Amino acid sequence: MMVVCSKNRSGSYYLKELPTLPTQRRHSIVADPTPDDGKLLSELPVYQKEESDKTLIKTAIQQNDFLNKIISGKRLDDVVNAMYSKEIPAKEPVIKQGEKGSHMYISARGRFQVSEFGDVRVFGELAILYNAKRLATIEALTPAMVWVLDRKIYQQITVRHNIKQQDEVMEFLMSNEKLKVAGKQALQEVASLLKPEFFKPGTQIVRQGDRGDYKQLYCRLVGHKFFIIRAGTVTITKDGEGTVGHCKKGDSFGELALFKEDYRQATVTADAPGVECLTLTRSEFIEHFGVLESWTDVKILPHNSLGAIQTKHQDILLADLRIIKTLGTGGFGEVVLVQHKKLSDLVFALKYYKKMDIVTQNQQEHVYNEKTIQMACNSPFIVRLYKTFKDNKYLYFLMESCLDGDLCSLLQQQKLKRFEEKETRFIAACVLEALEYLHSRRITYRDIKLENLLIAANGYIRLTDFGLAKNISSRGKTFTFAGTPEYVAPEIVLNKGHDRAVDYWAFGVLIFELLTGRTPFRTDDDTHMKTYQKILIGIDNVRFPGYVSVKSRHIIMKLCRPIPSDRLGMLLGGIGDVKGHDWFKGLDWHKLERCQITSPLKSKRKTRVDTPQFQIKNIAEAPPDELSGWDTEF
Ligand code: ATP
Ligand code: MG
Repeated sequence: MMVVCSKNRSGSYYLKELPTLPTQRRHSIVADPTPDDGKLLSELPVYQKEESDKTLIKTAIQQNDFLNKIISGKRLDDVVNAMYSKEIPAKEPVIKQGEKGSHMYISARGRFQVSEFGDVRVFGELAILYNAKRLATIEALTPAMVWVLDRKIYQQITVRHNIKQQDEVMEFLMSNEKLKVAGKQALQEVASLLKPEFFKPGTQIVRQGDRGDYKQLYCRLVGHKFFIIRAGTVTITKDGEGTVGHCKKGDSFGELALFKEDYRQATVTADAPGVECLTLTRSEFIEHFGVLESWTDVKILPHNSLGAIQTKHQDILLADLRIIKTLGTGGFGEVVLVQHKKLSDLVFALKYYKKMDIVTQNQQEHVYNEKTIQMACNSPFIVRLYKTFKDNKYLYFLMESCLDGDLCSLLQQQKLKRFEEKETRFIAACVLEALEYLHSRRITYRDIKLENLLIAANGYIRLTDFGLAKNISSRGKTFTFAGTPEYVAPEIVLNKGHDRAVDYWAFGVLIFELLTGRTPFRTDDDTHMKTYQKILIGIDNVRFPGYVSVKSRHIIMKLCRPIPSDRLGMLLGGIGDVKGHDWFKGLDWHKLERCQITSPLKSKRKTRVDTPQFQIKNIAEAPPDELSGWDTEF
């Protein structure tokens, strides 16, 4: 609800409540798969150029509000090297409206128009994240020259950069005799918690006799922390003994701080020109691993595995079904309500994809993930997928139908275009149950949003649309841009590699949206660039409406932390920390799991196939056949 100031007939001002504009259905975005470390180029491309050209490119990137947040340092140097020049004859377009772009440009010479410009500027930059549709045509008015960056190369740069950073940290950790015993997997987890810190020459990083936990004031500097040197050297001194040693790149100090609340045994001072360390605080270590005695005890929790494939309704054939109406449309597919021709009591939701679209957009792997993951899920908080079919044109997913629609429609039906805290808590609790089920099986969902949350007949919420779900285990991170713009976590925008922490971020965004009727990072920018900028600026700069309670704010702020490992849900208590948050106080989780709590969401539906909130639409025209054979396992 928006409040505006209006003038009434008598000329005085009054506050009028305007209905919030209906939320447009938001589609997921997924880039073509980003190369993982196995498929990285051995060398990044380097196009030779003059110093003045390098400066021009650098300046253009640094002056772009979005790019300067995602490209800096070594990444910037790599990007400058990888850009190549292209001559554009007069009257030729550089980018065309409606086309999907995979290149970003910087104007170097000549004049261009959408609205005429001749200065140095970046354009088409969203294309470095994913295949974004160009919103305008930009044409050269005179013979012109642009610098070009290919998305594939940008992805290579970011992935290499992150993998290199991870490898470097892992190398440090594994080369350290004391840490090595924890094993590679546990150390990978440790690595994700480390934060870089710089100490000026002469700084006493650790002071003999200090106890970090009791001197809160010093916590930042001398608190109970563990340090690994990334660059530079330090000198170790002891009272009465003077210098007792030095540490260099790769060495670590202060590990006792993680295992004991002991006094520091020596003083460690940064040498010139300063030291860069990776640090880990005792409290963070304990939040993730518990109170331990040594590195050998550092363990990561075992995971459940996905269940068996569904067995119900296996004998149903496509020919047995009749289409009743459209239930919904998504970015890739359409979902129709179908009824069994003979057993009229049997109604299903049938989602179908055009195979040609899947192939042209390189989404084969994601569609396979969708099938295998959703089919193996058996939870009252997840929509059941019974069976898939295929023919020459389409792939089909036969699912249980949720005839009360999705939360996007239900939100629009609310008087205030938002939910009360009680309803929000119930919805959030159902979503959390679904996340718990998935995360304990190493599945990251990646697409939490109102449109993917359906209302089951019992008024409970069920998660659907596993198009972006992924089993993330190798290296623990995935790099492909995936999600719905208003909900994506900063690490996805930054192409830093992401894991299940993105679901906790999106869960925080969801709670905000349920309570207020709009997502915290939403902007009116169709390209989503401003949304991404807001996401990178963070939740601390988002204004919460006054009616949002302190506890609600607190849980949202704890979920939407910029650093993934800091988010509620990613600490030692895992998802239990979220369930245990004060905001959920009084909720009987055992009863919820058994669906024994009465849902506060009211259904208006009377008969089985009565679906008032769905719109009837014509089924799209038939696409061409796609017969390349990639879908044999479907
Ligand atoms: P996206 O744009 O998020 O990628 P998609 O193409 O993957 O969408 P879905 O999200 O699976 O498609 O479905 C689109 C819409 O269809 C949903 O938002 C919902 O309104 C409706 N829908 C999907 N599954 C069902 C179901 N089982 N029962 C009832 N309605 C459904
Ligand atoms: Mg969807």
